[in-house]
Amino acid sequence: MKKKEGDMTKQGMLAQAGSYCPNKECRQYGKVGAGNIIKYGKSQQGRQRYQCRVCKKVFNERVGTLFYGKRTAVKDSVESLAMVAEGMGIRATARVKGIKHDTLSAWLREAGSQAQQVEELLLQDYQWSASQIDALWTFVRRKERKRLVG
Ligand SMILES: [Zn+2]
Repeated sequence: MKKKEGDMTKQGMLAQAGSYCPNKECRQYGKVGAGNIIKYGKSQQGRQRYQCRVCKKVFNERVGTLFYGKRTAVKDSVESLAMVAEGMGIRATARVKGIKHDTLSAWLREAGSQAQQVEELLLQDYQWSASQIDALWTFVRRKERKRLVG
């Protein structure tokens, strides 16, 4: 029997800080587990810092959650979240974007579990508005509650 976990990775999901280079100019940008990231002491606030050995950029653990995978997939997953936030619902969004219902649900769960980082990413890199973010979390929370009840 074939395992299905690989699907999600191919379509993009969240990566932990320190597992890839967040510098868009870098040729290793967004490549998770490529071995180019080394630990680089701690910041004054006690946060772990990392350095990319390829571009030499130093960044801290707050910079660096990302939907990784192919670049188009990253764009797709962010757009999908935006559509959900705008009230399209999971089923319709999954159909329009051509992704599996389960995959989209998993993205939402992941996003919810790393809300802080996801929020920063969406605000900074994707120019989401605060109200879009609010709508996304409202949706995620409502879905989470339903799952617990039902
Ligand atoms: Zn780099």
